[in-house]
Amino acid sequence: SNTVTIVGAGLAGSEAALNLASRGISVRLVEMRPAHPTAVHHTGDAAELVCSNSLKSTKPDSAAGLLKAELATLGSPLIAAAKRHAVAAGGALAVDRVLFSQDVTRQVEEHPLIAVERREATDIPSLAAGSDAIVLASGPLTSDALSSSLMALTGRDALAFYDAAAPVVMADSIDFGKVFRQSRYEDAGAGGDYLNAPFTREEYDAFIEQLLAAERVIAKDFETRELFQACQPIEEIARAGRDAPRFGTLKPVGLTDPRTGRRPWAALQLRAEDAHGASYNLVGFQTNLTFPEQRRVFRMIPGLEEAEFARYGVMHRNTFIDAPRLLDRRNRLVTPQADVLGVPVYVAGQLAGTEGYCEAIRSGLHVALAVTADLAGIALPELPTETVFGALLAYATDPATKDYQPMHVNFGLMAPLSPPVRNKRARYQAYADRANEALAGYKEALAEAGLLP
Ligand code: FAD
Repeated sequence: SNTVTIVGAGLAGSEAALNLASRGISVRLVEMRPAHPTAVHHTGDAAELVCSNSLKSTKPDSAAGLLKAELATLGSPLIAAAKRHAVAAGGALAVDRVLFSQDVTRQVEEHPLIAVERREATDIPSLAAGSDAIVLASGPLTSDALSSSLMALTGRDALAFYDAAAPVVMADSIDFGKVFRQSRYEDAGAGGDYLNAPFTREEYDAFIEQLLAAERVIAKDFETRELFQACQPIEEIARAGRDAPRFGTLKPVGLTDPRTGRRPWAALQLRAEDAHGASYNLVGFQTNLTFPEQRRVFRMIPGLEEAEFARYGVMHRNTFIDAPRLLDRRNRLVTPQADVLGVPVYVAGQLAGTEGYCEAIRSGLHVALAVTADLAGIALPELPTETVFGALLAYATDPATKDYQPMHVNFGLMAPLSPPVRNKRARYQAYADRANEALAGYKEALAEAGLLP
């Protein structure tokens, strides 16, 4: 029988282990805590939630809700555990974090096909001995030794240690009566790759005032030491001088506001985040503000008063690989160095570039299916891009994706509806209907391939 070695009993690793074991595959699960703690985990338990206890929305017409439906439909043991330990949280699934992690810990420790090894994995080639496949699920705080070993398999430039991502807003929440399309120094009206949000002097001053007063995530030293030298958060730039953003990220030169025919006092540029222009990135707006403060303060930007955020800005320690260039759709590492190991190496969870608890769980489930199929020599049915995780996977493993940053599921990644639906609620419902239908087809294909336990 086959044995799979999984590194990391976090969200992705625990889900993958329980899934593989439920399919009769033996698992060696290597977890370094509690002897080697990370900077954010507090216990030795499996699937510890490092921050919030919320697994986000359960609304059936939201991307987060659809992701939960995918997990439930495909029989995720972790989502079942989360539901067992749910606490009241309105339209969201929040859990008692202690009971949730203890439940998952008990399941992995008591499963006859799972052997938990409490030690730090340091060298990937040595894990190949006695394994038929390796799954790396060591998360955003992958230990230094394992990171070095991974770098030998991916190349130095393919591993990032910090995530400094600017917020992304949904295109349909932008006020196009205020923002205008123009590339710097190009003629107004010529189109252009950027949207520009123009500030008057008063708007700029009010914005900077709130930006300086806003609550920040207290960054731990280890998270920001090197990062801040390379790229300053917008609020830090403003702290250096009220006008500093206006001479940098918010500089208005080369722009003409068609409403006034003049150069604005300052302007934020927004760049399409995806091929369909469904979401836009706030260019140069790396930030350490808390998520609610980002929502409050960045909605003061002219044209963004009603902005819905597809992703908030983050700046923290985050180890992840350049997935679009390294992984195939089965999340298998496809590099010449990995090819000579003799066993396939898969990557799951945040290390593979997903962002978010449920995304990590879903990624672990996806990799478990891929490993099961590959070991049995069965073709893995393609996960439709109409599903929320299918869309994320397509984005995260598309070689055309540049400057990859970890992403959570969102409608901005979904292929446009045909014909387009203008009303927002109706559009979300249409995405959901299309996703549910695709998911049902996928489940059927898995069953036909013999991949459902
Ligand atoms: P993890 O859950 O971190 O699991 C990785 C496991 O691998 C850990 O148990 C670790 O101890 C182990 N490990 C690492 N190296 C080794 C090694 N060499 N040998 C053996 N074991 C090893 N997402 C949200 O949805 N909501 C949030 O509020 C949220 N807050 C976050 C806060 C911080 C500070 C960070 C860094 C991330 C946060 N995330 C959040 C993002 C993400 O959802 C979580 O990080 C999630 O836990 C990722 O799951 P994972 O399985 O990939 O990694």
